[in-house]
Amino acid sequence: MDIALIGIGKIAVDQHVPAINASSDWSLAATVSRSGRVDGIPAYSDFKQMLDENPNVRVVSLCMPPVPRFAYATAALNAGRHVMLEKPPGATLAECHTLLTHANERRLSLFTTWHSREADMVPAAKAWLLERTLRKVHITWKEDVRRWHPDQEWIWEPGGMGVFDPGINALSILTEILPVPIHLKSAHLKYPENKQAPIAALLEFTHPTCNQVTADFDWRQEGEQTWTIDVETDAGTLRLFEGGAKLEVDGTAVEFTGALSGEYPRLYQKMTELVTAGKSDVDLAPLTHVADAFMLGRRETVAEFVT
Ligand code: NAP
Repeated sequence: MDIALIGIGKIAVDQHVPAINASSDWSLAATVSRSGRVDGIPAYSDFKQMLDENPNVRVVSLCMPPVPRFAYATAALNAGRHVMLEKPPGATLAECHTLLTHANERRLSLFTTWHSREADMVPAAKAWLLERTLRKVHITWKEDVRRWHPDQEWIWEPGGMGVFDPGINALSILTEILPVPIHLKSAHLKYPENKQAPIAALLEFTHPTCNQVTADFDWRQEGEQTWTIDVETDAGTLRLFEGGAKLEVDGTAVEFTGALSGEYPRLYQKMTELVTAGKSDVDLAPLTHVADAFMLGRRETVAEFVT
């Protein structure tokens, strides 16, 4: 299928283009970006013009930040194209629900992708937890914003979500591997005095049987970077780390036995399946927890952030 990539920035270049090029299902037919481009691919700066001139493009994959995404997704659905959304799928829950309604009305596929759920060891962690009773769950997601988001001012703006931009990846894994739904109990958000989005967040969730489900997100982490979920159960401990790429059970490494592929190749494989089956995949649980954190969170002002 011919596909167009919209918003040629870091993630489009690092992950989407290689995943599309490596797949026999997909052909990158066009890009739309104000300044970015992909060598050898027709480049547009006007989205409507690209849609009008490329009726062969059946799918558009939106890789820009969340705030502008709704307008592009609406235009694509109105033009009869299937839509793939980078995470977080939108700036608000309501706009995501609206997009799903539009997609269903037009019998088009909408895919709210969560790339971290496609990390190698997430399915093994999910299977292991299914058999056990939880005692304690803790997420540690600490990274250096200067290292991972240089020159990205949108992450600090309203709708950029601040530390939840990576934190939502942890929540996408958590909501995938826990056998039952959870909901937010409390949040403590730390805002730099010169920014509109938090640099750190402490979250506490309510779980039907486990009374300690917590998360610690921090963007001020220098040196070693940590993307870990620790779980204690009635029958052993689990550590899912390196963003879901590695797993230890009771301190012993679990070998990866799935098919070698990678997070983004798996997302594009899923999109092939959704379009072929005429289905959508829209799970808003991770975004719901982030929205609840902004709604319920106690706000603390911390030192200004300077790059
Ligand atoms: P980015 O490089 O800052 O932005 C991607 C591109 O979006 C920009 O190059 C820009 O292209 C376009 N864009 C920016 N603002 C826009 C606007 N207001 N209207 C239309 N287009 C706009 O960001 P990124 O790191 O690729 O992240 C994009 C999305 O991918 C985010 O939702 C992020 O959470 C997700 N993501 C990022 C990573 C990562 O490692 N960076 C990993 C996984 C997912 P032009 O200026 O050329 O139009």
